[in-house]
Amino acid sequence: MALTVSHSHSVTAVDWSKLDTVLLDMDGTLLDLEFDNHFWGTVIPEHWGRQRGLDVVASQTTLAPVFAEQQGKLNWYCLDYWGNRLELNIPTIKANYTDGIRWRPRAKLFLQRLHASHLDVVLITNAHPVTLEMKAEKLPLTQWFDLMLTSHELGAPKETPAFWDALTQRRAFNPRRTLFVDDSEHVLQSAHHFGVSHLITLRQPDSSRAIREHTQFPAILHFDEILEGLPRVD
Ligand SMILES: [Mg+2]
Repeated sequence: MALTVSHSHSVTAVDWSKLDTVLLDMDGTLLDLEFDNHFWGTVIPEHWGRQRGLDVVASQTTLAPVFAEQQGKLNWYCLDYWGNRLELNIPTIKANYTDGIRWRPRAKLFLQRLHASHLDVVLITNAHPVTLEMKAEKLPLTQWFDLMLTSHELGAPKETPAFWDALTQRRAFNPRRTLFVDDSEHVLQSAHHFGVSHLITLRQPDSSRAIREHTQFPAILHFDEILEGLPRVD
């Protein structure tokens, strides 16, 4: 796959018979990233600023470089790290904002149909285990996965080769017969370098933001575009 090519059109179809394993990201892929963007972009700066007499805009401006220096690292996804760094009880704040946790369109149906298929369905998320637990409590995620793993358990984020090496220790899979769906193109590049053959990204991870017209990897808007060939569940 040429990484420089832009795919402005959707994936035509997935030949599920050529696959044994489906690896799925959670936030921005199965769930609406609006929750996370709102939480980290507005709710946390609000709480942080309140303790320091700053309004939300001043807090956002002050915190932007603090967040930026951790991007792509395990700390970025770590509630404990941010709790210490910002002196906030993040899980408690998060527990009051669970209303925004919701499926992306047709994601639940996609999971149900994958679950009814021959495929090994594995969640791989950079989300902190506490966040995963909170989301799995709000939405019935767990029942459709054969395995759920966080990068915290594996000791490295999906952006790094160490993650993929650790993943193979936890779950055997043939990368040439594996599909990985993730809204982060950095993460998909990492999977591509590891050798995962089938990669798909999302055109609108956050329902409140614009649809991405150009992506480095084949992209779908919603999961109905790749449902064909999976067992029906209705
Ligand atoms: Mg994601």
